Amino acid sequence: MPHESFDATESHSRQSEFSFELGTRLRGSDGSVSNGRTGVITTPHGQIKTPAFIAVGTKATVKAILPESVAQLGAQAVLANAYHLYLQPGSDVLDAAGGLGRFMNWSGPTFTDSGGFQVMSLGSGFKKVIDMSSVDQSGPDDAVAPGKERLANVDDDGVWFKSHLNGDMHRFSPEISMKVQHEIGADIMFAFDELTTLQNSRGYQVESLERTRLWAQRCVAEHFNLTDTRASKDYQALFGVIQGAQYEDLRRQACRDLGAMSFDGFGIGGALEKENLGTIVGWCAEELPENKPRHLLGISEPDDIFTAIENGADTFDCVSPTRVARNSAFYTPHGRFNLSGRRYKTDFTPLSDECDCYTCQHYTRAYIHHLFKSKELVSHTLISIHNERFVVKMVDDARQAIEDGTFHELKEWTISRYYAGQPDPQGLQTSTR
Ligand SMILES: [Zn+2]
Repeated sequence: MPHESFDATESHSRQSEFSFELGTRLRGSDGSVSNGRTGVITTPHGQIKTPAFIAVGTKATVKAILPESVAQLGAQAVLANAYHLYLQPGSDVLDAAGGLGRFMNWSGPTFTDSGGFQVMSLGSGFKKVIDMSSVDQSGPDDAVAPGKERLANVDDDGVWFKSHLNGDMHRFSPEISMKVQHEIGADIMFAFDELTTLQNSRGYQVESLERTRLWAQRCVAEHFNLTDTRASKDYQALFGVIQGAQYEDLRRQACRDLGAMSFDGFGIGGALEKENLGTIVGWCAEELPENKPRHLLGISEPDDIFTAIENGADTFDCVSPTRVARNSAFYTPHGRFNLSGRRYKTDFTPLSDECDCYTCQHYTRAYIHHLFKSKELVSHTLISIHNERFVVKMVDDARQAIEDGTFHELKEWTISRYYAGQPDPQGLQTSTR
């Protein structure tokens, strides 16, 4: 459904209902101005002071944590997933409920991921089946691990995919993703894009990037249509997603192409190698319009967060704090540890004696160790509250440090302490996005 006559660079009158105000610019250690900055995003459901860590609530719940606790631990916004909510309970149900926030009893700002990542990763199993940690561009572009069925097929108009729940076939396109995300009703939505992996050839990345550019135009067109036809609803902002893998020219071109379109902000997506994270975010920050927010999809490791902030990312999300909590891993200023260890059985100290979270104010490692060993579900709740607070506070501290002119000292102190701790082989995470 190409919209030949539509000009995606023309803005919509309701876009003024969403705004981003720049605050303090980060100075490099030599005093030069860098890409990092503070700011304030204003949505119909409140403000987000940036840099900010956004709690992930994939299925309209931050796993194991009540929304009241999510607010109390300082999370400013929640990010849900359009793919999961489309399949279950259905975006029409959220629309009838008055939107995501009202449905889940969260009064603050909300985001939805477009579903593109899940359609393609849960469908074809990019993340779970293919090893994304190695960069081997010699393989076939449609590589699927032996014994695994390809469950998603991309064409120029959209994607056919099989539900990971029951195997039913579904279609996502830019227009369908926009309809689904408008019905879900989050304050910030993402354009539908194609996920590639680091294993795709450069030729495929070029082809995919052009498809994502055309899909971005169609997303803006359909977004404006829906904004007009659903005029009584709160304005929902739309972020374009920058792909281009590890190639500088492709990332910069994607930023220029999408940066010229009427997006309210941008997501930096796709496969990233840890060592290139700062460089790639920096390319994007140099090319994208300075007065629009930039969201980095899927990071939570302390070194990655500081690198991303330093290079110009404003918001981040990641499932790790709650995911690792369910495996009894907890963060401390001295690294990540696993509470299932025997040494915690009689450890009557909090998870972290420097933490101000609800869990650390009221509970000991010994008690939560006991709950986990007894398979009591509240252990998930207590560790999840702590882990979310840990990451939220780290980003809040980084924001304050930019304003105070102490960012580089905070970064060095935080990272040197965190990675000097004993690495926990059970708790080690891999990149989630
Ligand atoms: Zn705590």
